[in-house]
Amino acid sequence: LDDLRRKMIAGNWKMHKTVSEAVALAEDIVMETNGTLNEVVIFPPFTALETVADAIDGKHVGYGAQDLHWEDKGAFTGAVSGAMIADICAEYVLVGHSERRTIFGENEKIVASKIIAAYRNGLKPMLCVGENLAEREAGKTARKINMQLKSALRVISAEDAENLVVAYEPIWAIGSGKAATPEDALEVCTLIREKIGKIFTPDIARKVRILYGGSVNEKNAASFNLSGIDGVLVGGASLKADTFAAIVRSF
Ligand code: PGA
Repeated sequence: LDDLRRKMIAGNWKMHKTVSEAVALAEDIVMETNGTLNEVVIFPPFTALETVADAIDGKHVGYGAQDLHWEDKGAFTGAVSGAMIADICAEYVLVGHSERRTIFGENEKIVASKIIAAYRNGLKPMLCVGENLAEREAGKTARKINMQLKSALRVISAEDAENLVVAYEPIWAIGSGKAATPEDALEVCTLIREKIGKIFTPDIARKVRILYGGSVNEKNAASFNLSGIDGVLVGGASLKADTFAAIVRSF
């Protein structure tokens, strides 16, 4: 059944890399992951996105944006729309990353609006969900994940759902050097698939990629290569081509 889902290794560069640095990194990643059967996707910052897109056009590495606005155009100073992102032929867009939720105050309503905007523009959303430390310690992980999924998946049609990617990213594991155990990651990824199966159908749930993210590096990546975890979303360790390529090779 896992054959339905190609493993995906995604690199979220966050607020790092100038244009020239980004192009160099993207080209190195293309070179060092050459021949992989996995899907490799990078998320450069907006200023570098189009230049990176041109540099890796036609190569096996895909790219996406780290965020989008929920409207396609208008008086939204500083924002970038899904229409603009689609215009440079990006395939993916991150939605609901915990940094957007906590630092930029994005609530479930905004996350849902951004998912709608992504699909409206032909972009595939990579929806990030995850509990914070207090929620985990209080045994409320499943409740939090279910709440986030229910709110976000409500706005997706069954047809679009197949193109969804979900990243389980426990907030306490992001940038902390303290990754979840593979067992804990698999448990929540399984729960996510079950929830998708209930909201849509088990058949659709079998097609949706569910990734783990949070302090994944070249040393621990292989431990997440399990049936039921379809790859990883990598932050810090995606900023160097050799470590990122090593993670790609772990799957
Ligand atoms: P990290 O970030 O790999 O640096 O923990 C992951 C993420 O935020 O996607």
